[in-house]
Amino acid sequence: MPTPVQDVRRLHRRLVLRTLRDHGPQPRADLARRLALSPTTMTKVVAQLLDEGLVREGATDGAGTRVGRPSTEVGLDAGARHVIGVQVGAGLVRLGLCDLRARAGNVRSFGFDLAGEPPARVVARIAGAAAALAEEAGDRLLGIGVAAPGPVDPGQRRNVLSVNLGWREVDFADPLERALGVPAVVDHNVRAMALAEARYGDTGGADPLLYAYVRTGVGAGLVIGGQPFRSGTHGVTELGHLRVVERGRPCACGATGCLETVVAEPYLAERARALLGRDSTDPLADLASAAAGGDGRAGAALDEVVDRLATGLASAVNLLNPALILLGGAFRTAPEPVLDQVRKALRARAFPVLRDTVQVRRATLGPDAGVVGSAAVALDRLFYDV
Ligand SMILES: [Zn+2]
Repeated sequence: MPTPVQDVRRLHRRLVLRTLRDHGPQPRADLARRLALSPTTMTKVVAQLLDEGLVREGATDGAGTRVGRPSTEVGLDAGARHVIGVQVGAGLVRLGLCDLRARAGNVRSFGFDLAGEPPARVVARIAGAAAALAEEAGDRLLGIGVAAPGPVDPGQRRNVLSVNLGWREVDFADPLERALGVPAVVDHNVRAMALAEARYGDTGGADPLLYAYVRTGVGAGLVIGGQPFRSGTHGVTELGHLRVVERGRPCACGATGCLETVVAEPYLAERARALLGRDSTDPLADLASAAAGGDGRAGAALDEVVDRLATGLASAVNLLNPALILLGGAFRTAPEPVLDQVRKALRARAFPVLRDTVQVRRATLGPDAGVVGSAAVALDRLFYDV
């Protein structure tokens, strides 16, 4: 058991690290003021962090830019420790080595056979790929985070269900810890992306933040009061399984007419193929461009997709009152007129006071969002101690 004095030191330490993460390099005096700590205490905490090599004085911020005047400002040394971030998607794994700002480097990916490859084998392949990154990080490696394609257990070690992959109770943490010798933490992929946007994205501190991810399915993650929202046992918010169509298509979850049956990428691809007469790698953009070119059927299909997405988002707005909705996956790269259409359709459906305050924007973290998200989860647990 740590003594009360050790507890207080630990608290001060993580407050300083989080402040440097969120507000950048600054003089000790500013840090002390911001955290309402005495200059003497701050001097001690910073001396300890300098000793551990976690901060630098007047040094670079890990991105090669010189920040502050030498020996007056203290900044996080983002490259001092690393975590491995792993995103497990439908048939695709991406992983990378991330620094203390969750910036991903050395990102690699491999495909797996959804139908034929047992999940334990996929986990073993992740361990193999992660071992190479672990070797690169050496003793600077704190642990590994996994963004899983569905709800996780309360201990954040297993993916309890993935309806789109047909997985149940897939143990990620135990095999990865055995293989790598560092702690592992597992979280729902979209909640991990929401957390990454709140901590490291360009979101201007918007809170609550709702992240809606449209890919093979439709997922949502929520950050409230700076913390990822985990309700109930599994802490999931299943936006994709809100019913938006009466007597609609059967969904992988067992219900019918779920949002993801009429908005996610397989449906978009199907509509594009039917209406444009060809396979499309970006069906949303292709439908939008055909609609803009005067194709009335493509326009109607796009309107329908947007209306249904907005119906789902309006329910989320009315229940949760987010300040910001970030659209990730297929909608992150959607043409601007499609985003405007979503905003307009949402305004027509959400409760008056709430629709006036909520903003809808593209996700800010790019194609590595899942890798960064899993790293954010691991850093929160293993470094910033949230
Ligand atoms: Zn469903």
